[in-house]
Amino acid sequence: MAQEARVPCGVGEGMSTPILEGKGLKKGYPIKTPMGRLKGIVKAVDGVSFSLSESEILGVVGESGCGKSTLARLILRLERPDGGCILFKGRDITMCKEREMREFRRRVQIVFQDPFSSLNPRMKVGTMLMEPLLVHRLVPSKRVARDRVASLLERVGLSTQDMERYPHQFSGGERQRIGIARALVLDPQVVVADEPTSSLDVFVQAQVVNLMLGLMEERRLSYVFISHNLSLVGQIAHRIMVLYLGRVMEAGPAHQLMEEPLHPYTQVLLDSIPAPDPKEAHLHRLPPLGDVPSPINPPPGCPFHPRCPQAQEVCRREAPSLCSLGDREVACHLV
Ligand code: SF4
Repeated sequence: MAQEARVPCGVGEGMSTPILEGKGLKKGYPIKTPMGRLKGIVKAVDGVSFSLSESEILGVVGESGCGKSTLARLILRLERPDGGCILFKGRDITMCKEREMREFRRRVQIVFQDPFSSLNPRMKVGTMLMEPLLVHRLVPSKRVARDRVASLLERVGLSTQDMERYPHQFSGGERQRIGIARALVLDPQVVVADEPTSSLDVFVQAQVVNLMLGLMEERRLSYVFISHNLSLVGQIAHRIMVLYLGRVMEAGPAHQLMEEPLHPYTQVLLDSIPAPDPKEAHLHRLPPLGDVPSPINPPPGCPFHPRCPQAQEVCRREAPSLCSLGDREVACHLV
C-alpha cells in the first residue's frame, strides 16, 4: 500500500468473548455432467472453524478458489452449511428461520469486492441507504432517515449532495465508500469485507482501509477481512487464517504468523510478496508456486503436496490434521 494502514489501538491479543464463531463449517457444490448426472462434489469449505472477538480483525487469506467467498456467504447465512454451525453472540443461527434472523441480519453486514455491481444502478444513493433504515423501522420518519444517511455519507468522505446521484456518477473508490456506508447504516457489530480493496488502485486502497480502521475504532466493529493479499492483511489484522482448497492450513496471531510462518504454504505466500525495493528482489528464495489444483479433483493426502517444496512420501498418502501449537494452529506433517 502507498500509505501505512493504522491498526486501532486497545484491541488485539487478550480479546475476550467471541461475537461470531464458526465451528466445523462444510459446504460442497455438486458437479453434474451435461446429462445431469452427478459427477462429484466440490468441497468449497471443508471443516473450517474460526472465532471473532469484539473489536477484532480476523484476516482470511488464500488464492482464488480456496473457499474465501463461500465462507463469507456461510457467515452471512446467505447459504446454509452442509455441516457445522455458526454462532452469533453464542446463539446458533445455522438453522434459524428467516423471521428469527432479524437481529442477525442487522448486526452482520457485508462490504463487497466490486462496489459497482453490488449497488443498484437505478437507485439514487440516498434512497439506497435510507431504505434499510425504513424497512427495519429504525427511524420515526423519512426526515430522520435522511439526516442519518447524510451524516454517514459525510463520515465516509462523501457529501449530502451525493444522496441525489446515481452509482455510475462516482469513481471506484467513492463507490466503495458508498458500499461501506451501506454496510454501516444499520449499525452492525460485524462487517464481512470480501476483497474490499482488490478492484482499487494502491493509493485508494490505503484510503479505504484507513477509513475502515477509523470506523472500526469509533463504532466498536469487528471485521472478517477476506483478501488474497497477505501483505495487506498482515498490516491490519489481529489474527490470520490461511485457507487452501477449502481447508485451514494455518491460523494464529498476525504478527507471529507474519514473522515466523510455520506452514510451507504460508511461507511461500509470504516469500512471494513483492519487495518494496527492487534491489531486494533476490531475497525471495522459494520457487514460485504453480497453478492451484482443481477443487473438482483435489489431490489425495495433504492438499498442498503437489506444490509443496518440502513434500514427503507421507504427505501424498495422509492429510495432516490441524494441530494446536499454543496460540497457533497448523496442518502439516512436518510441524
Ligand atoms: Fe508440505 Fe507435507 Fe506439510 Fe503438506 S504436510 S504442507 S505437503 S510438508
